[in-house]
Amino acid sequence: MENRTIQSKNQGLKVLRPEDDFRFSCHSGLDCFTQCCRNINIFLTPYDILRLKNELEIASYEFLQKYTFTLVDHNGLPVVALKMEDDEKKSCPFVGSQGCKVYPNRPWSCRIYPLQPEQTKMTEKAGKQYYSIMDVPFCLGFQEKNSFAVKEWIQEQDIPIYIEMEKLFKKITMNEFLSDKKIKNKKIQEMFFMACYDLDRFRRFVFESSFLKQFDIDKDEIKKMKHDDVALYKFAMKWIEFGLIGQQELKLKPEVIVTKKDELGIK
Ligand code: SF4
Ligand code: SF4
Repeated sequence: MENRTIQSKNQGLKVLRPEDDFRFSCHSGLDCFTQCCRNINIFLTPYDILRLKNELEIASYEFLQKYTFTLVDHNGLPVVALKMEDDEKKSCPFVGSQGCKVYPNRPWSCRIYPLQPEQTKMTEKAGKQYYSIMDVPFCLGFQEKNSFAVKEWIQEQDIPIYIEMEKLFKKITMNEFLSDKKIKNKKIQEMFFMACYDLDRFRRFVFESSFLKQFDIDKDEIKKMKHDDVALYKFAMKWIEFGLIGQQELKLKPEVIVTKKDELGIK
């Protein structure tokens, strides 16, 4: 590690600023090649799933069923993890002798390695990003000569789009409204799962139910959501914000508000 790194006072970690350098190179000539793709926990973000299911050219529900399992976090919200193979080494389903078979669309945690974000609420609020180097003793990539500045690595690994998409998701999961709540309602958990992770099913829900009759949505946005997964993902995040934490990211149509008020006896 070069001397431009700074030491965290709290944990003795090397905390790297965007301009700091680190030494690393990963290639098939190393004895450890693909060792890191076995027996690991990889939690998938909604955007990871969007990219992976498109890489594999399968629907989101097929991807979820074949390659993942679901857990529930401390807020009662579902989280999705990659299912390792049932072989001796518990290999990632996407690892092959030549490396990662989904490389252009590999998950966020694989592409950012060996960096890991060192985030606090303060750094997040200030829009600053710091990283540290993961401690993986068997990884020989740290002994290679190549060095990168953190900011260079982030760009090269195509991380900014992942950060941008994850921000929308974190706006929900990190919202203070949820901090002391535990969602137990199965219907809410299912809706959250569908909108975040099962995008193709969410598209059917939007376009094949009375959904669009209820909300005031821009015609161009509707048109885009029909075929564009990123547009649909952005809309899904707005819908969850609206439904789960009461943010006015979406507007109900005036006639729907009148009907709802009538139902509730509100004048
Ligand atoms: S262990 Fe490190 S160097 Fe080896 S393949 Fe994995 S990331 Fe690359
Ligand atoms: S997705 Fe690719 S890089 Fe990530 S663990 Fe699996 S094979 Fe390795």
